[in-house]
Amino acid sequence: MAGAEIRTCTACGGLRGTEKTEHTLERDAEGRLAPKAHHFWSPCSMCGGSGTVVVG
Ligand SMILES: [Zn+2]
Repeated sequence: MAGAEIRTCTACGGLRGTEKTEHTLERDAEGRLAPKAHHFWSPCSMCGGSGTVVVG
C-alpha cells in the first residue's frame, strides 16, 4: 500500500455526483396533462459517489 494517495475526484470535483433534472408530462387532479420537473441525484461514475479516488 506504500505510495497510495487519496485525491479529489476530477470528474465531479469532490461533489460526489451531479443533480439532474428530468421533465415529464403528468396528469393533474382534473386529468389534464401538465409538464413537471423531477430533480434527482446521480452519483459520479468515476468515484462511485465517494468524491475521492485512490491513486497508486
Ligand atoms: Zn467523482
